[in-house]
Amino acid sequence: VLTTDVAIVGAGPVGLFAIFQCGMLGLRTHVIDSLDTIGGQCIALYPDKPIYDIPAWPVISGADLVEQLRRQAEPFTPVYHLGQEGLSLERLPDGRLRLGTTAGILLEAGAVIVAAGAGAFQPNRPPLPDIEHYEGKSVFYAISRREDLANKRVVIAGGGDSAVDWALALVGLADSVTVVHRRAKFSAAPASTQRMLHLVERGEIELVVPYQLHDLAGADGRLEALTVSDTEGRRRDLPADALLAFFGLSTDLGPLSRWGFCVDKQQVSVDPTTAETSIAGVYAIGDVASYANKPKLILTGFAEAALAARAILSKLRPGDALHIEHSTTKGVPGLGRAA
Ligand SMILES: Cc1cc2nc3c(=O)[nH]c(=O)nc-3n(C[C@H](O)[C@H](O)[C@H](O)COP(=O)(O)OP(=O)(O)OC[C@H]3O[C@@H](n4cnc5c(N)ncnc54)[C@H](O)[C@@H]3O)c2cc1C
Repeated sequence: VLTTDVAIVGAGPVGLFAIFQCGMLGLRTHVIDSLDTIGGQCIALYPDKPIYDIPAWPVISGADLVEQLRRQAEPFTPVYHLGQEGLSLERLPDGRLRLGTTAGILLEAGAVIVAAGAGAFQPNRPPLPDIEHYEGKSVFYAISRREDLANKRVVIAGGGDSAVDWALALVGLADSVTVVHRRAKFSAAPASTQRMLHLVERGEIELVVPYQLHDLAGADGRLEALTVSDTEGRRRDLPADALLAFFGLSTDLGPLSRWGFCVDKQQVSVDPTTAETSIAGVYAIGDVASYANKPKLILTGFAEAALAARAILSKLRPGDALHIEHSTTKGVPGLGRAA
């Protein structure tokens, strides 16, 4: 069992800023996210899109905003638990909260901040029989180490940026690269699609369109081949050691909606003066939090993070809450303090 002052569910922009706000008040944090990377919607949905309404940044991309938030949080040494979902919540006899994750980690905290956005991001899985036996062994929805696919016959399914970018990245490393897409038209960035089509012409990538995944063949989680079919039911067998399926992400508030707070239209009702939910000690901030006239904006989430951190300090260490200083006076560990 791990102990901390505040457990944060969700490492989107708002969860990341909550690390900083808690840290400035001397509250230690652990952060959980279902994705393997931090950044929430900014990274999963629009890393390269420019954002124009972050105060003091006339323009910043989703990815750069997340990198700045990561750097701002870093001095407070947050502990990240990625690739797992916040699952269970129970109250301990001493009033603290115990949060369990899908990876079996137990976190005991004085308070929990839910910064879950629209819910846990999960890859959309193709509806193929027995696919779960292959997942993580030879069927993947994300790749962290390109080298793991060296000398393998790789089939990539999908027509967006992930599918095309990985096809380009694996040419020359994988034994063969085949791209299966249900349409002849790709929705990836035009320049990347052009590069891929050029490699198709040179015979370095095989394009199988318009086909959809139909069945997997193999044993003990090891893929040997897969069958694809077109709209008229024509089938083709493709030899394969690995399938990378890139069909986008969906969100699910799932387990959190069973924690017992008021959930309305996929949002959690909070007291707008503290961000506290109907469960004492559990706070909700960012897109997941709802109150009258709530705007779903990053900057509103940032302010809610400041409210929640202060409300938590008042509860956990009421004496300290009387002496909150400006950042200019207090400084940040490792970055110094004003004279
Ligand atoms: C295309 C697009 C453009 C946008 N442009 C702007 C803009 O210009 N300006 C602006 O202010 N806003 C913009 N937004 C909205 C903005 O991205 C959101 O307001 C912001 O991401 C909310 O941040 P968040 O941290 O609350 O939630 P999110 O970014 O949704 O992050 C929540 C995180 O929590 C995780 N999570 C949820 N449940 C669990 C669980 N049970 N266990 C573990 N992890 C969990 C999720 O996986 C996710 O990573 C845009 C959104 C989109 C889609």
